[in-house]
Amino acid sequence: MAPKKTFHLLSLGCAKNTVDSDSMAQLLMNDGYKPQSDPENASILIVNTCGFIGPAKEESLAALRTLAEQKRPGQLLVAAGCLTQRYGVEVARQVPGIDGILGTRRWMDILEVVQTLRATPHPQPLYHLPESPTVGADEKNALRASLSGASAYLKVADGCRRPCAFCAIPLIKGTAVSRPVETILREARELREMGVRELILIAQDTTDYGSDLGMKDGLASLLEALAKETPAQDWIRVMYSYPGYVTDRMIEVMATFSQILPYLDIPLQHAHPETLRRMKRPSNMDWVHKTLAKMRAALPGLAIRTTFIVGYPGETEEEFTALLRFVEETRFDRVGAFQFSFEPGTSSEPLGDPVPAEVKQERWERLMALQQNISLQINQSFVGKTLDVLVEGTDKGISIGRSYRDAPEIDGLVLAQGKAKIGEMVKVKITGAMDYDLSGVLG
Ligand code: SF4
Repeated sequence: MAPKKTFHLLSLGCAKNTVDSDSMAQLLMNDGYKPQSDPENASILIVNTCGFIGPAKEESLAALRTLAEQKRPGQLLVAAGCLTQRYGVEVARQVPGIDGILGTRRWMDILEVVQTLRATPHPQPLYHLPESPTVGADEKNALRASLSGASAYLKVADGCRRPCAFCAIPLIKGTAVSRPVETILREARELREMGVRELILIAQDTTDYGSDLGMKDGLASLLEALAKETPAQDWIRVMYSYPGYVTDRMIEVMATFSQILPYLDIPLQHAHPETLRRMKRPSNMDWVHKTLAKMRAALPGLAIRTTFIVGYPGETEEEFTALLRFVEETRFDRVGAFQFSFEPGTSSEPLGDPVPAEVKQERWERLMALQQNISLQINQSFVGKTLDVLVEGTDKGISIGRSYRDAPEIDGLVLAQGKAKIGEMVKVKITGAMDYDLSGVLG
């Protein structure tokens, strides 16, 4: 029988969910609970689920089913996160053996849920889904960050007010809620004291930061305040920008402070105005061309990441070809591509899912093949150059890390001959290029 105050937390989905998982773990540990990597040794089993699109939902249900089937007497299983926020009691109906249901908007109530479950037997699952229009702002002093080596995701806001037709996030999280600037600056200081060298700012839409606080250009102001406190050799990386909201002031602040990496993550989702209009996404491609050109001029070596959806309802071969042409001309450093996932409850629901699966797959493959070539060519242009690399691991005399061009988990790596310490920022002379990664020698 596992010691009473022990928990095993499985975190699924995006970096924003990872931060929620780490904050929930913190609240439990503050109350004396011990984390267990092996579910066998834990009395409380928690899955922080993802409910964004079909494949992610299936993965969350499968993880819950596995733990429910393996659950031993005395163990309690809590389903938390986005899937439970979106589907509530339906999740417990689909997965017998769940003892507690907690939505992502009230992640901060994890301790109460666990204490209530432990205190009183619950023949029926305990549903903790209080009405909450947005993600709660009462964070119970949990650090809203997730550390990995010398890097940390730092959440600056949660929720989203954009109307993207295919997206369930606003249904799950509610509208955007920005965290106070002072709190973010305090947490950034704490993270530096913990040895963090790279701060990765995340939200559903970082470029909307501060709009609900009455700030104009809130992200630019936050970046400036953070940069003024950040040592010159450390990194600040911004993820999840929204087209139309990368402002001149933001570009100017990025160009002024070397700590703010010349890296732009801007999901565009498509490039044909008609498709974008059906997606209820910004469809002014002229703005996209002009802003990317402006940023490339202001930020030498700018690395641009974007994501696209293929097979959106109504996408014609002509619209898809326009996307390919745009990718060919713009030459992004990094491209993520998803096949459209039909999501009931979103405003794209009435459009159905008319593009056949095999057409989606074929378009996805054509787009990724095109980008693979572009990525290799861009990587080849770095041979002979020297890059700063944040070391994240070593293996048989090779130091493995990331350069300014590489966000964790989704971009490439730099493999350098020579030993360096994890968390160290080193110079690497690039000697080789692969489709997504670079190789070199410690400089
Ligand atoms: S910006 Fe659009 S795609 Fe991104 S979370 Fe908000 S609604 Fe979803």
